[in-house]
Formats: sequence, structure tokens, C-alpha cells
Amino acid sequence: MTDVSAAADLLALTPQQARTALASWLAAAGEPGFRVRQVLPRLWTRPVTRWSEATELPASLRAALAVRWPLTRLELAVRQVSRDGTEKYLWRLADGEAIESVLIPEGRRRTLCISSQVGCALGCVFCATGRMGFRRQLSPAEIAGQVRELILTDPARRPTNVVFMGMGEPLLNWDAVDVALTILNDRDGLAIGARHITVSTVGILPALARFAARPEQFRLAISLHAPTSPERRALMPIEKKYPLADLMPALRQFPRRVTFEYVLIAGRNDSPAAADALADLAIPLRAMVNLLPLHPGGAPDLLPSSAAAMDAFARHLRARGVEAVRRRSRGLDISAACGQLRVELEARRKVRAEQHSHVQ
Ligand code: SAH
Ligand code: SF4
Repeated sequence: MTDVSAAADLLALTPQQARTALASWLAAAGEPGFRVRQVLPRLWTRPVTRWSEATELPASLRAALAVRWPLTRLELAVRQVSRDGTEKYLWRLADGEAIESVLIPEGRRRTLCISSQVGCALGCVFCATGRMGFRRQLSPAEIAGQVRELILTDPARRPTNVVFMGMGEPLLNWDAVDVALTILNDRDGLAIGARHITVSTVGILPALARFAARPEQFRLAISLHAPTSPERRALMPIEKKYPLADLMPALRQFPRRVTFEYVLIAGRNDSPAAADALADLAIPLRAMVNLLPLHPGGAPDLLPSSAAAMDAFARHLRARGVEAVRRRSRGLDISAACGQLRVELEARRKVRAEQHSHVQ
């Protein structure tokens, strides 16, 4: 249990906890009861960058809030807009670390892809974040804060959907993701419908059970990427710890339809036999399959499957009665995939540093 009275950051609490913490602090300060209803919306519903902006509050209260409850900010370091409309945000955190979010507009939908950790410990061979290794956990304020900061840049950018498909493995940061899910969904939080929030995971079983136990209808995407254990182990080291043989029964317990994420890599997982084996996994679960083109940059030695191979793979699945969707690669020109912008910026910085040292 979070001790809300000792909390330093209202944005790291669920809205309910923030209400409790605020109410007791305001009461101790001799403020009238209705102040809670004025202050709370300024966290998520109508966010402010700093308390001084909440001009409906008395100046003395705004000053006191700024001292007792400083607001966690993520500083926008880079914003890039792709030719296809995808927007990529690199946020600088208080300790200098950086994380990314990607906003993908599609018709009336605006999907924001958010990060749950700085880096990732799991080392999937195709993934830029995996190459970076694990740096640290994000707090709930930093996870949900990616949405908050986006809204602060322009309320028109408010996402309709959120997916945990940025940097990190959300189920290895469950305590923070658990709170962030509440903030994203709560009416006094960001009020995004649970069915519009998707957690993507390689399948960390203990946390998956806790996610499945939540009563809201959050969606689950499983990063599968290979249909047999040996093939999956070659791409995703986590297969050793949580093998398909344990993951599949756990997914049968999940109360809603799941989606399989499957990145097609030439010659590695795109054969007709792989499509058949994938269908064998998907059919009993009635799982949907998202086929993704491999984003170059995660691993220089891997190649994306050809368009023809992707088509054939999708046709094969559909012929077996599996609902398969071919996703387009979005934001290719701005490296908008999982950890790529940060990795790229660091590489550039390193080159600059090396050039520098040559000069000296
Ligand atoms: N760790 C979680 C969530 C973040 S990764 C997970 O793995 O599910 C989000 C998605 O991006 C995953 O499906 C992941 O496999 C995919 N991904 C990672 N690197 C990629 C690349 N180079 N090209 C295409 N998709 C990639
Ligand atoms: Fe981590 Fe997901 Fe990347 Fe694998 S694909 S290294 S789990 S972020």
C-alpha cells in the first residue's frame, strides 16, 4: 500500500489516492473542503505545467502547492514529424535519462505508444531498446506523464488510444504500470476507455496473472514472433524463463481475446511451416495476429521479409481461419520504433564525441 500522506508526488498516485492525500493536506492547512474538487482536475483532467497556472486558486495556495506538491515534468527534448503524420517525442527525465513516445494518427484515432522502462533487460535480438540494456524503471508519473505532457503541448493531440509498445517491458515494472493503468483509465485521471488501452508483453507470467485479474477490459498483446520454442528462444531470450508451453495455458485463462504480435524476419520466422504452427497456437485462443514488418535498425544482421512473403504468410493464416492483419510500418523516416530515436541520438552523440577526440 502506498502511504499517501508521505507521498511526494501527486502524479505518482492513483486519482483516488491523490484525492485522499490532497484532502488531508488541505484540511491541515485550514482550506475549505471544496478545494479538493478544484485542485484534483489540475493533475490530469485539465493539466497545468505548474501550479501558478491554476489561476482559479488563491495565490497563497498555489505557492503552497508548488512547495509541497511539485509536479513531475518530462522535458520535451526532440519532436519529429514523419511524412506519414507519425509524431515522435523524446522526453528528458529529471535525472537526464531519455524515453520515447510515438503518436500515430489514423483517421479519427490517435494512438500513443508509451514507454514503461528506460531500456529493457530482455535483449530480443531484433529490438533497439533491447540493445540498450536496462537502465531503470519509470515511475507511474513518468509513464502516465507521457500522455499528460503530450496534452500540455497541445490539447488537440490528446490520444484516443494508448499502447504500451514503446521502450521497456511493462510487466517487469508491474507496480508502476498497475498505477499508471488506473490513472490512464480513471474518470479523474486521463479518462481513456480500458478497451482503448493495450499492454504489450513478451509474457511475464506472474505479472500477467495480476494484469488478468484487473476488472477493467484492458487489452493484451503478446509479442510472440516465433511459433515454436526453439525458434522463439533464438529471437527472444525470455523464452527460456517463460516458455510457450507455460505461456499458452496462461493465455487460455485471460478473460478476453488476445492479440499476437509477430514481426516478420526474412528466413527466420516467415516460412509456410511457421504460419501453420502459428495458426495452431492462435486457433484455440481465437487470437488475432498482427503481422509487423521488421523495422531496420534493431539488428543490422536481420532483414525484413519481402512484401510477397508477408502477403503469403497472411494468406496462409487466413486460409486456416485466423484473423491476421498486416500492419504498415509507420514513421520509418523518423525511426519511430521501439527505442530507435534514443539509440540513434546516442550514436550521433558518440560520433560527435569521437570526432572531438580526434581533433584534440
Ligand atoms: N516489451 C514489450 C513492449 C515493448 S516492444 C514487448 O516486447 O511486447 C513493442 C513491440 O515492438 C513488440 O511487439 C516488439 O516485439 C516490437 N518491436 C521491437 N523491435 C522491433 C523492430 N525492430 N521492428 C518491429 N517491431 C519491433
Ligand atoms: Fe524488451 Fe520488448 Fe524490446 Fe524485447 S521487444 S527487448 S521485451 S522492449
